[in-house]
Amino acid sequence: MLSLKLPRLLSIHQVPKGYQEQGILCGYRPPRISAADCVLSAFQMTNETLNIWTHFLPAWYFVWMLVGRLWGPGGRDPPAWPLLAYLLSCCIYPLASSCAHTFSPMSARARHVCYFFDYAALSMYSLGSALAYSAYVFPEEWVGSIFHCCYVPVAVLNTVLSTSLACYSRFLELERPWLSKASRTLAFVYPYLFDSIPLFYRFYVCAARSCADPTVAAHYRHTAFAFLTCFIFATHLPERLAPGHFDYIGHSHQVFHVCGILGTHFQLEAILMDMSERQARLPATSLLQALAPMGTCMAVGLAVIAHCSAQLCRAPEPSHREKLHGQ
Ligand SMILES: [Zn+2]
Repeated sequence: MLSLKLPRLLSIHQVPKGYQEQGILCGYRPPRISAADCVLSAFQMTNETLNIWTHFLPAWYFVWMLVGRLWGPGGRDPPAWPLLAYLLSCCIYPLASSCAHTFSPMSARARHVCYFFDYAALSMYSLGSALAYSAYVFPEEWVGSIFHCCYVPVAVLNTVLSTSLACYSRFLELERPWLSKASRTLAFVYPYLFDSIPLFYRFYVCAARSCADPTVAAHYRHTAFAFLTCFIFATHLPERLAPGHFDYIGHSHQVFHVCGILGTHFQLEAILMDMSERQARLPATSLLQALAPMGTCMAVGLAVIAHCSAQLCRAPEPSHREKLHGQ
């Protein structure tokens, strides 16, 4: 039964180590609350509230964009399939993240499983970007090259590897937090850098020729946001400099979400510009070429999540091992 009594918030010393966030001192929801209380806590000001909403609301913006394209003129024609696959990935990752932030306090294991889904969805987004880049963004002189032929299969492999690495990083969180953070950052930065190779080449050519291509300018915008997103994720700024001052509003994870969503918005804008200008000159993608990589990665991602969740079940309940400071 839904209790309308809001969960009492805790300080950093009252929650297990796995729940603690660097530089955030207050506003923690109690560990082991019910699913209903988790939902209720989205309407209470905690240190997770804005993490939930900064991905929940934009997810519906991308759903709206996807439905609009799907039912718009030519929306279901073969040239649009990579765009639809990309838009689907743009809907999934903020929704998965929002759910992870909402339900993570249910238990220590639930927290891990929630973030396994979050990481798998984020990796799917990198594959969605690769599909759109392969179809609309590739430099014309690279179309049909060996690199172009291998680009999506390598992106599929990267997605599987990055999901596995990001999920594995959670097992290192308590004993080797630095290695955990570094491997998780690598899991998301590496596929992004690989996906962006065609884009970086276009930036290089554009800079060498001093071009004034508005599409390249749009790609610059989302690339700038991608680097900012990574910087914020890795550095934990601003709360690292002023612990306790950004517990509820303005801490790095919220800024990371906002920058990531703005980056995705500008990326979508740039892809749509490329699509309308260059689609006729680039080879069409078949439905199988668009859906098979997404289907493969979804299936492997779920298998990785199932495997990691099974490992959690074999391990003793983490909360028994975690030391509660101050208790
Ligand atoms: Zn998040």
